[in-house]
Amino acid sequence: TVPGVSSNLKQVKLDRESELRIEVSDEPLRLRVVNGTAEIFGSELPPEIWRTFPPRLKFAVFTWYGATIEMDGVTETDYTADETPMVSYVNVHAILDARRRFAKASTSTDSESPQGPRVIVVGPTDSGKSTLTKMLISWAAKQGWKPTFVDLDVGQGSITIPGSIAATPIEMPLDTVEGFPLDMALVYYYGHTTPANNVELYKTMVKELAQVLERQFLGNPESRAAGMVINTMGWIDGIGYELLLHAIETFNASVVLVLGQEKLFSMLKDVLKSKSNVDVVKLHKSGGVVARNRDYRKTARNSRIQEYFYGLSKELSPYANTSSFSDVQVFRIGGGPQAPRSALPIGSDPVSNPLRVTPVNIEERDLLHSILAVSYAEEPDQIVSSNVSGFVYVTEVDVLRKKITYLAPSPGALPSKILVAGSLTWLESH
Ligand code: ADP
Repeated sequence: TVPGVSSNLKQVKLDRESELRIEVSDEPLRLRVVNGTAEIFGSELPPEIWRTFPPRLKFAVFTWYGATIEMDGVTETDYTADETPMVSYVNVHAILDARRRFAKASTSTDSESPQGPRVIVVGPTDSGKSTLTKMLISWAAKQGWKPTFVDLDVGQGSITIPGSIAATPIEMPLDTVEGFPLDMALVYYYGHTTPANNVELYKTMVKELAQVLERQFLGNPESRAAGMVINTMGWIDGIGYELLLHAIETFNASVVLVLGQEKLFSMLKDVLKSKSNVDVVKLHKSGGVVARNRDYRKTARNSRIQEYFYGLSKELSPYANTSSFSDVQVFRIGGGPQAPRSALPIGSDPVSNPLRVTPVNIEERDLLHSILAVSYAEEPDQIVSSNVSGFVYVTEVDVLRKKITYLAPSPGALPSKILVAGSLTWLESH
């Protein structure tokens, strides 16, 4: 062996319709296909070319017809599995594909003409929702469709910083490492990692996003025929369940895919049975889905924030800027968590207006380490209904000099002085 060059090469031969499940260790892992064809969550790996996967990533390399995979590095775990739900997933894709073709073939442009499928994926946490949405999106894109991906999961979103709901058109299969592209995304900043903080605000933003997409579809038959794939959060009881119903209705979902929970399936099937244009389909959860605990989720959220500013493998360097307090206006929406009625004095208003926008006094409120969204709103009263251009991270608040310092992903002045604060903070660790 050459000194300094570690050699942990390992080859794995995969039979048809089987997968290699990998949990990357704390060190990156290199991997390539040496023979046959294989895909990661619906996105084909190019032959021979090494790809580097970041630490702690969990994924599977699946092959339809057989493949030989080569790995370089030490994994946390890796094993092959020949029992997967992939055939049932690709069957769903085939049905969606047929509906897209039907929608495309109908030349009429009126809003009542057939349109592409609007698929919503629901299920408990760690049932493989995000993974299934990735597959459906990548398979569709591989066939030349430009579906819209919608992410309603404010806890573990796939497009941008946590606390956001977002949508983006997809024009090609997802990158096997980078995932969803951000450059064309439509992003709303809700500001908290669970809808429970402000249910009304969450619903309002879901509605805003849906309305904008609806308008875009009217002017864009290609997107309209390709339809949407919507990912949701894993909160499926109580208010979480109501929010799922709200999303199904707001986006006019035509296909509800229920992963891994019989009870949720039968509840949804029952409430949606009067709607002949909605199909509720039960799908098996993959045995490869890795359960992630609270700490892992928290770490994953922090890495998403880090990735936004520094890139996936720290290849970017954000810009530090300083502004006077007077050059920016920070707002927040709604009160804190709403107090239960029983905790309030008799006669008092139980719910502060959840959509009220209030200015934040930078001198009084501790914004250090907050993530702030840069709003497209021109006036404060447009904040709730406006999407955001991006995020900044507050690294210093100097009350004496009345200056605020923040990291931004691009240099120069902010595109707007209206910033939105939520409860999202981040402690940068280097
Ligand atoms: P959910 O969106 O329902 O919370 P995810 O789709 O994010 O669940 O899956 C949870 C984790 O399991 C993710 O890290 C994902 O990459 C991983 N995973 C999903 N399917 C597989 C599989 N077949 N093999 C290995 N890891 C998988």
